[in-house]
Formats: sequence, C-alpha cells, structure tokens
Amino acid sequence: MPRLRRISIFVWALRAFVSASGQRRRGTEGVADGFLKATAMVARDATLAATVAAAMALVSTQTAAGAETYIRDTEIEADIQAMMAPIWKVAGLDPNALHIYLIQDKQLNAFVAGGQNEFINTGVILRAKTPNQLIGVLAHETGHISGGHLTRFQEAARNASIEGIIAMVVGAAASVAGRGSGGGAAMLPAEGVAERAFLQYSVGQEAAADQAALSFLDRSGQSARGLLEFFQILQGEELLSGIRQDPYVRSHPLTSQRIEYMRHHVERSRFSDALDSQANIDLLKRIKAKLDAFISTPSSTLAAYPEKDQSVVARYARAIAYYRIPQLDKALPVIDGLIRDFPKDPYFRELKGQMLFENGRIADAIPPYEEAIRLAPGAPLLRISLAQAYIESNDPAMNKRAIAHLNDALRTEDKETGAWRLLATAYGRDNQVGMAALALAEEGLSAGKKKVAQQQANRARALLPKNSTAYNRAENIQRQAGERDD
Ligand SMILES: [Zn+2]
Repeated sequence: MPRLRRISIFVWALRAFVSASGQRRRGTEGVADGFLKATAMVARDATLAATVAAAMALVSTQTAAGAETYIRDTEIEADIQAMMAPIWKVAGLDPNALHIYLIQDKQLNAFVAGGQNEFINTGVILRAKTPNQLIGVLAHETGHISGGHLTRFQEAARNASIEGIIAMVVGAAASVAGRGSGGGAAMLPAEGVAERAFLQYSVGQEAAADQAALSFLDRSGQSARGLLEFFQILQGEELLSGIRQDPYVRSHPLTSQRIEYMRHHVERSRFSDALDSQANIDLLKRIKAKLDAFISTPSSTLAAYPEKDQSVVARYARAIAYYRIPQLDKALPVIDGLIRDFPKDPYFRELKGQMLFENGRIADAIPPYEEAIRLAPGAPLLRISLAQAYIESNDPAMNKRAIAHLNDALRTEDKETGAWRLLATAYGRDNQVGMAALALAEEGLSAGKKKVAQQQANRARALLPKNSTAYNRAENIQRQAGERDD
C-alpha cells in the first residue's frame, strides 16, 4: 500500500536558486534518499528551474522556506478524498474532479489554488487529533472553491503547475515573514507579489467560507467542533508568539469574531456531538503512520512502532522505516507478510515495487506494480510508477506498455510534468519522434514554460501527419501557450 511518491523537482530547483543567491536555507532533514533516487530521472531536467523562476525570485530572505516538498501518494490522497466526499457532495462538487495535494511542512497551512485543488500541509494532518478536525479545515477550503473566491494569488495560480503554485505560496509567505521579523529583509524583486495581500482573502470571503463550511458539515451530519478546535490551536499559537505566525493565518485572517461565530454554531448545532466514523478514524491512523514513517528518521519510527506491536499500522510503518535505512533484507519480509495477509490491498504491493525499484531491482519491481494496478485500476500514479519501471527495464516491448500506461494516467494527471517527460522518453525510444516532441510540448505547457511548449509544438507539427489527432493537439498547445502571460 504505502508508496509515497515525492516529486523533488521543484524542491531541487528551489534549493539551487536559494544556494546560488548565497542565502541560508532551512535544513532538509527528512528528505529520504529513496525518493530522490526514484525521481532522479525526471529531476535531471535543469530547465525546469525556469518554470518557477518568477516565483522563486521571491525567496530571497533568510526566512525563505526553501525546502518545501510536494508529496504524491495514491493511498493518502484517496483516503482523504474518501473522508471529504460527503462534504464535496453537499457542496455540489464532483468528488472525482477534486484533487488533494500534500506539502511536507510542519507548519499549519491549507489552501486552494488552480481550480478544484486543495493543498494541505502534512503538519495539519499529523497534528489532527480527529478526522473531524481535518475534515473541518478542508470544508472551509471547499467553501472558498464553491464560493469562487478570487484573490490575486488565485488569478496568478490559474494556469500554474502544481510546483509553480507551491513556489508562489512559499515565496510570498516567506517574504511576509521576512518583513515581519524585521531582520533586514532584502527588498524583493516582485513587489506586488510579495505583499501580504497577495495570498490573503478578504474578511467577507473568510466569513463566507466559514459559513459554507458550517453548512456543509451540518448537511452531511458532521460536527463543526473540529474546525473550531483548529481555530483555537491557531489562536493559541498566535498568543504564544506573534512572530511565528502560521502561514494559514496569513492567508485566512483569523479574528475573534470568526471564532465566536464558530463557537456559537457549535453550541446550537444538533450535529456537534456527532462522532467520527470508525472507518475515518482508522484511515487517519494509517495516514499518520505512513506519513510519519516517510518523514521522520527510521530510528524514531522503529522506536514508535516496536517489533512487539503486530498491528497492521505498526508493521506498515516498520516496513517503510527499514526500506528507508535502507535494509531491504528486513523490509521485504515485513511487506511480504502484509501482502500475504492482505492480498487485495494495492498499496502494500505498491510499496514493495517502490522498494525494489529504488534498490535497482527493476525487473523484480514490475510484478508488484502490475498487481497493484490490477487491484486499483483507477490510480494514475501507480501507472506512472510502473511505466517508469518498464522504461528503465530497457525492453522494447515493455517500453510500448509504458506508453499505454502513461497516456492513460495523463488523461487525469496532466499536471504531472515528470510523467510527460517519461512519455517523451518512451516515445523517443520507440522512434516516434513527433510524438516525443508533442509530449515535451505538453510538459512545457503543464510546467508553465511557454517558450518550450511553443518550440516543441512547432517541432511536433513538422513531424506529425497533418490533421491527425496528435497534430491538432500540437496546434492547440501552440495556441494555448500563446495566450498565456509570461
Ligand atoms: Zn479561508
């Protein structure tokens, strides 16, 4: 089950920028080597730095949070989607159209951007004591989506890649923090974006999102207590330290009026004592164990989940810890045991595939990934992982299969720039040069690299049969890229 797929491209680009500018950056503890290895193939693309260059230019103070990492994980995303589905339904949104993105950061933050995308810091998840707290926070974010609340950030993020969105949030937040602490913060190049107001919702929008959240919670028979508790946690931290302000408060101004309104609702709503379902309690427990095992040091995971604890969650956490050490000889028996006990669970197989792939055992990694996809055919990230293993196997027949899986996955994951790059590689190896150029054009478009998108689309048009579907798509990309601002 567990396979955290950490996309490090953005982080690397950001780090490169920050160190090049001679600024100190925050430590990068907790970055698992395994992830870096897994994504090395896509991360080699140095030109990606250009993608987020504009936003990165903001990260120029000492407080710059330079090591933000964006995590993709099918299991955790699916679990949070399952928890949120009742809220999204009463909000009139299609649960399948919404995406959950995780950012590895201890600070409390959640935001929406680029359409129906809800971003949440791992700090919020790991500190959530109940599923209801997590659901409450995201219900509020859903209120911003359903209300169509526009800010300058929302405008700027409209066509940005996921990496670009995170870079903007990190950059703008860091610049505000830098000024707030008065630590001789450098003047920032993009004045407009650096302002606090860039990320901030208006008081009216905040009130509307709160009201929407309370209505969604009531209509789905859930308590608003969790959201109130989250506000109280934020308020407590504000009192402790005015400087160490959680990023959430900067974008969602927290007033005593908001808290009072929420408290009043909790006092009178007949759903305030509604309990979390056992299913949600179990999901959160597992999400937290998995995240923690991937983020904390393996030794602390092994201490938190000693051998005598034979629960599924503990075995899962230990398998991840051993693989991260890396002690494959210890990790494999644990994961094999879980697969034996839970043969229908795709994520245990995914983790096994990841363990083997990242240890260079490409051929061995393929069967577990194939099994995972058989069990979870609707999970595009699993297909991308399998495709990468197929490509690295250097077998032409496997390479053709990679093309099919990537095209399938990219129908819904078209913002995964790394997957477009993999597809270009697979087409290239299959001597489909025109299709490779088209995939690079798609990559450019999804990464916000207007020039690359146009150049590659141009190349694709020259190579592809006129008026074919692919040719028309290349024309389309050229037009779309042309309409974008630089
Ligand atoms: Zn808000």
